[in-house]
This record gives sequence, structure tokens and C-alpha cells, in this order.
Amino acid sequence: MALRRIIRFPDPVLRQPTRPVSAIDQRLRQIVEDMMETMYAVDGAGLAAIQVGAPERVFIIDASVAGAARTDLPVVFINPVIEWLSAETETKEEGCLSFPGIFVPVKRSLVARVRALDLNGKEFVAEGRDLYARALQHEHDHLINKLLFDYAGPVKRQVIKRKMERMTDEEAAALVARHGD
Ligand SMILES: [Zn+2]
Repeated sequence: MALRRIIRFPDPVLRQPTRPVSAIDQRLRQIVEDMMETMYAVDGAGLAAIQVGAPERVFIIDASVAGAARTDLPVVFINPVIEWLSAETETKEEGCLSFPGIFVPVKRSLVARVRALDLNGKEFVAEGRDLYARALQHEHDHLINKLLFDYAGPVKRQVIKRKMERMTDEEAAALVARHGD
């Protein structure tokens, strides 16, 4: 496994179209293992492959967020499709590992149902509530190149852009260490 650099806004890679996974092979397994190690290192709730520079339709969600034991491996979603979103929504401050220290209120469905493949190529359906539902919607956004930035109003967008353009790797690491999401 290898720790990968988390790509930060406004790196254009985050806007690169993602492609569906065509084969769950050693190459993909390696990306997923690296994603797990990278997410653990910053205690994140979820991570999309494109955030480590792999424009594939893959994301992972931390086990404790997904309602499993903290010691379990993250849940891996390959070629995920949102099947259903509840009409009931909630607006909460949301963070992103590609925007260290930035929080934007985002309205999300309280419940989300996602169909995906696991690392064995087996289809499964996950239904998440609250934080899990929010994480599913947030990570899925990365696959369609939608970012936290897009949920901010025009004034906040300017602030985010300025902050992110000036942010050094050291500053980002310190901010992420304080709050990974
Ligand atoms: Zn994110």
C-alpha cells in the first residue's frame, strides 16, 4: 500500500470526467488499497478515487460512518449509482479532504440508497441515513465532478478560491489533522 497525495481544489484534476471501472483487477485493487491508507492517515469519512488522481468511478466510506465496526475495512463502492434519495432533507456544514479547513452548508437527502459493485464484483445496495447518507451523496458528487465549492454562494466562492490558491501542503496537512471529512 502507498500513501497518496490528496488533490486539492482548484487542481483541474478534480473536474476531470470519471470513467466506469471495466475490470476489477490488480490495478484497481492497488488504487483502492492506496485510497484506504490515504483516508486512514487523515481520519477521513470518505474518499473518491479522483481525489488521489485516479478518474475512476470508485469511492470508499469509512466503516464507522457506514454503521459497521470501527475496525472493519471501509466500504468500497465501484460504479455506484444513486437509486433513491429521500424527499426529506437536512442542511449541514460539510467538509471535504480536497478543501482542508473549509466548510459549506449543503442540503442533502436524509436517506440515500446506492447500488454498486464490491471488490469481488458482486452487486450490493447500501442505504444510509444522516452522516452515511451525506457521505454517499458527497462522494458520488466527486464522480460527477461536483465539488463543495459549487454549493457556496458567490461571495464565499471568492473566499474559498483565494484561501485554496494560497494554501501550502503544510497548512493543508495541519488543517486536515484537525478535522478530516
Ligand atoms: Zn470530498
